Amino acid sequence: MSDEFVGLVDCGEGTQFRLKAMQLPWGKVRYIFISHLHGDHVYGLPPLLTTWHLTGRTQPLDIWSPPGLEDMITRLFEHTRCQPGFTIRFHEVQEGAASRLLVARNVTVRSFPLRHRIPCTGFLFEAEVTSGGDRKAFSRIDVTDEHEQVKTIHRYAYCSDTAFDQDIIRHVRGANLMYHEATFREMHREKAAQTGHITALDAAIMATRAEVGRLLIGHFSARYPDAGILLDEARQQFPATDGAEEGQIYIVT
Ligand SMILES: [Zn+2]
Ligand SMILES: [Zn+2]
Repeated sequence: MSDEFVGLVDCGEGTQFRLKAMQLPWGKVRYIFISHLHGDHVYGLPPLLTTWHLTGRTQPLDIWSPPGLEDMITRLFEHTRCQPGFTIRFHEVQEGAASRLLVARNVTVRSFPLRHRIPCTGFLFEAEVTSGGDRKAFSRIDVTDEHEQVKTIHRYAYCSDTAFDQDIIRHVRGANLMYHEATFREMHREKAAQTGHITALDAAIMATRAEVGRLLIGHFSARYPDAGILLDEARQQFPATDGAEEGQIYIVT
């Protein structure tokens, strides 16, 4: 389907190569959501945009991010004398408040504030699926109307880099799947607080309090050769935890 919802969340270095290697429909990406402007979340964007330009993309692109991204990308294009052959619309995510960003087809996207060293935002994706519809999409809330049609909402919460913050819970409550960063082990709890990150155990505490269905953790510090230890720490608190793995597909149900 040409009008399906295809979005990309964060765009670290090498993203386009990963998308191509996994044979994902990367050329159909219509929406991009950038959590914050640290390099590991955004440095893959300029080459991806350039590739789209060079391969003749004409479909417009909408990008949401905290302030600064438009200036960054515009300057880069100025200095490289590149004028993309497609429209890029930049949207700034409101700082310090939750907001609804987009409703497209059956998907609603919302943002909510995270607590990091620079402005940073989380995203909540809600896909409404009616009975007989695309059940592979994203459920929990079943609403039966007078025509006996079942509507189901599948929720995916994405919590990028953030310190432990109870205020996030209300924004992600009841998500079927929540991705949450878990950079540090418990033994480095102080380091986590200093750098605006969180421990695997605290990510699991967030999942428990928010009553999410499943937790996916990632963004592990390179200091740990074995991410299994972080997973163990999280699972002691929240057993339905998995470690995010490159190339894996996670169905939100
Ligand atoms: Zn960061
Ligand atoms: Zn990061």
